[in-house]
Amino acid sequence: MKTFKQVRTYSIPSSDPRISELVTWYLGTLQRAINIIWENIEWSYRFPRIERRKSKQIVIIPYKLKVPELPKDKSFKKKLRDVLLLDCPYAKHWVDAVIKTAYSIMESWRKRYLKGRARKVKPKVRRRFARCKITLMRVDYGEKRVRITVKPGEYIKVSWSRRWLARRVEGWWVGEVVLKDDRVLIPFKSTRIVEVRGVVAWDSNELSLDGFSPRIGFIRVDLRPLQSMKITCEKKKRIAHSKGLNDIYEKYVARERNREGDFVNKLASGLTRLLPNTIHVFEDLEKEDLVCRKKTSRNRRKRNVRTSWISIQKKISEKAVVVRVSSKNTSRTCPRCGCVAKTRVGRVYKCPKCGFELDRQKLASINIYLKYSKMRGFPHSNDPEKAMKAELWVGVTPSGWSPVTWIPMKRDPEGGEAKGRGLNSKQYQAL
Ligand SMILES: [Zn+2]
Repeated sequence: MKTFKQVRTYSIPSSDPRISELVTWYLGTLQRAINIIWENIEWSYRFPRIERRKSKQIVIIPYKLKVPELPKDKSFKKKLRDVLLLDCPYAKHWVDAVIKTAYSIMESWRKRYLKGRARKVKPKVRRRFARCKITLMRVDYGEKRVRITVKPGEYIKVSWSRRWLARRVEGWWVGEVVLKDDRVLIPFKSTRIVEVRGVVAWDSNELSLDGFSPRIGFIRVDLRPLQSMKITCEKKKRIAHSKGLNDIYEKYVARERNREGDFVNKLASGLTRLLPNTIHVFEDLEKEDLVCRKKTSRNRRKRNVRTSWISIQKKISEKAVVVRVSSKNTSRTCPRCGCVAKTRVGRVYKCPKCGFELDRQKLASINIYLKYSKMRGFPHSNDPEKAMKAELWVGVTPSGWSPVTWIPMKRDPEGGEAKGRGLNSKQYQAL
């Protein structure tokens, strides 16, 4: 059993001029709140430190770092609120909404700064928006309407009852809405209890997604149609760009985005249909970024893969339970003995300690699976190895509305490519 949380945000157009006014006030006040918090940050120094771990010297912080601490005590927050209230024609809760947003902007700046991703510069808000607080909203689920307090006794009403989305969010609850100049964004949330029957761990490669599930074995998702579409669009974009044809350039930018979105959609729904009630385990991209920041500028196609990979993860997380694990060393750890190899050369991974051999593309997916099961407290067992030897080898390629799967194969996974006729998902499930 696992709880599955879903959020879908829909945009409802609105031409109420009061929204624009409110957004202008909100932004000004938000920037003032950020300024005041910024001026009250306490900076402390953190010095480089060397520690001994497993007979190795490790530098904990490589350089001297000034660490910001945000002012969080009650008296400061009260003062901040009082100052902002002096110039507030709206309901008092709007000031609280501003303070909440200001803190979340400052917190995320602080995190990025400590990771070396943001400079020591005061954050500036540019995007025009106003995030509402629950205390300013009343939701009428029967009438499918949100009432937002502007001033005491003065409201903006937004209804979703006659919109196409009404059916899709039946029984869902409404979170904090965001006001934009010409529209209102309503996040709908739901929590379901899902009975989990399987686990699949996914690794992304240039031309395929490689999955591993102890129940099925390896699952290969073909990304070649996506890659060739992207390469074609890139070529056309390059030609248009060199000739200065902006319209055509934009056309191919839009085409690439649309076709990629379409592909990702079909892929995600195909996979969730093929693998119902399954937990999908992915590598944590945030953490991976940190580990190989120096190596990020590789070639263009690799980057393309990454962007698709992020959107595939997102799409699947909208439809199924998704868990993320760190991707550290997943492409060079031996799943049998746990030894970490130094080199990453060659198509086939061979463990220097125990001699275990496996195609490198499949290695990471097994290691991601093992990380997940360790996280869950399962012992490092030999079960996955059995699955690797005997289980099916499937490929999914989305063409049309239902994914076409290649013929599943009962074979040694260290063997070559899978060959076979196309099978659709119904035929596959009948197997
Ligand atoms: Zn080994």
